[in-house]
Amino acid sequence: MNQLRILISGGGLAGLTAAYWLHRNGHQPVVIERAPELRRDGYAIDFFGTGYDVAERMGIIDTLAGKQLFMGDNGAVAFVDEDGKAKAELKLDAMRKVLDNKYLPLMHYTLEETIYDAVKQDVEIRFNTSIASVSQSADAVTVTFDDGQRESFDLLIGADGIHSNVRSLVFGSESDFACYMGYYMACYFVPHNEQQQATWENYNEPGRQAGVYNSDRDGQSITLFIWQADDEGYVPHAQRAQKLRSAYEGMGWITPQLLDDMPADGGDIFMDTVTQIRMNTWRNGRVVLAGDAAGCMTPISGQGASMALASAYVLADELSQTDDWQQALAVYEQRVKPQFDLRQQKARDFAKQFVPGSEMGVKTQTVLMKLITYQAFSGLLKTQFVGDSFLETAALHRLPQSSGNVLGYRVAGKLHVTDYQTLTIGIEEILKASDEVRLLLQLDGLEGIESGALWQDWKFGREYHEKIAKVAIIGDKRWERWLARLSSPLYAVESRFFHTDDIDNAWAWLRS
Ligand SMILES: Cc1cc2nc3c(=O)[nH]c(=O)nc-3n(C[C@H](O)[C@H](O)[C@H](O)COP(=O)(O)OP(=O)(O)OC[C@H]3O[C@@H](n4cnc5c(N)ncnc54)[C@H](O)[C@@H]3O)c2cc1C
Repeated sequence: MNQLRILISGGGLAGLTAAYWLHRNGHQPVVIERAPELRRDGYAIDFFGTGYDVAERMGIIDTLAGKQLFMGDNGAVAFVDEDGKAKAELKLDAMRKVLDNKYLPLMHYTLEETIYDAVKQDVEIRFNTSIASVSQSADAVTVTFDDGQRESFDLLIGADGIHSNVRSLVFGSESDFACYMGYYMACYFVPHNEQQQATWENYNEPGRQAGVYNSDRDGQSITLFIWQADDEGYVPHAQRAQKLRSAYEGMGWITPQLLDDMPADGGDIFMDTVTQIRMNTWRNGRVVLAGDAAGCMTPISGQGASMALASAYVLADELSQTDDWQQALAVYEQRVKPQFDLRQQKARDFAKQFVPGSEMGVKTQTVLMKLITYQAFSGLLKTQFVGDSFLETAALHRLPQSSGNVLGYRVAGKLHVTDYQTLTIGIEEILKASDEVRLLLQLDGLEGIESGALWQDWKFGREYHEKIAKVAIIGDKRWERWLARLSSPLYAVESRFFHTDDIDNAWAWLRS
């Protein structure tokens, strides 16, 4: 494999994870980070799903588990009434159970520091550095840094978060991709409140929510405010305290105290809009995006951190599978983008219930929270947040022999909605340059279709059966032969069955 020199803009979760795996896979990454040192942004994250799997593969789970928040038996997320009495409470133990014990509540910086520790000896990380401009040629991507220095690399990864600099420089302005979700959010450290123990308490009034939980810093808790508002864009630090005070004026519970404890100058208040980033493509020549830069999902999805690690891992993985970097970037996008799209869709569906706008909505939210705490309904949590790791669940694995208008997949496992999205993206990519697609499906343990994906299957057939000129089904079982017969005209104009040891002929037939 050719060693590539790869610049990564952003030393956050996605950037550091990409650096770790690229180095391990034999490439030469260089990370630049705008901040003067590792950030210590103060908020907690629920960490589960694909990112958890990636962290496991990095061997950092034990370190993270030792630093998790809300340790002990009483850890819970609670919705409280005006007097602080819990109306509904979700025990974190229940959450762990639903997520097969692969769940950690962490400070965001704990995850970042742990990945940094795993990579800092091996990879050059330049703090206080940003990119001023980017140009591309057939041989390289050349950047000019903000100190005027120029340097060329084989590839550039934009892992610089929701307000990505690389995205603005190469793909277009943030407003072209930003989808405001109707909320602002803010958080800051406050002195620890003695009554509060292991519970993350939230108090809701129509259109606004205030919450507080213990951090891992002695004597310090963290607030989280989320409120409905019109999009007024970026709020300068000096105006943040005032903005919060007016949004939370007259709110009950301990909110007045939390506001009184606000840092005076606003410098230490994190405040941003709740905004998704939605793009048609994450690639432009030698430049590619990962994490929030590519597809910020917002805290509503509860998976931005996890998917930052996931995207970085798959990107590095694909760049280790082939010397053709263009192919690697395309396959990366095909594997990961549908997973982002799905989680973004779930977050949009859930957005209105996140901080309900009416009294009735607040009551409904309490009932839903109570329901979820019952064992029988707890699986809803997993479904809502798509808590499975897609490294394990994806049934489609693109075959490296795919080229031109011939697309091949190994199919192993159960087909999920995201597999149909992967297929759709792959086919659409080919249809940009060709009138038709030829498809090879190597059935290697197909376990059927998840019930939720049946609709996708029907839609897929309707949409594409005339555009797929040929489909080759590869397998050895009798029913697989039948599947081939059924495929035309439902999924393709013409279909044929080939035995596993005859796969070369299948490629040749598709290409003829
Ligand atoms: C309040 C809140 C709660 C959240 N809760 C959860 C949760 O429960 N679960 C979850 O999974 N996710 C959660 N998230 C989302 C999660 O934090 C993000 O999705 C995740 O941090 C994205 O990682 P990233 O590496 O893509 O971007 P970031 O973490 O934003 O890192 C980007 C990095 O790029 C750097 N950078 C920016 N501009 C430049 C530049 N010009 N040049 C160089 N470097 C630059 C930044 O300083 C930063 O270090 C939450 C987010 C917030 C705000």
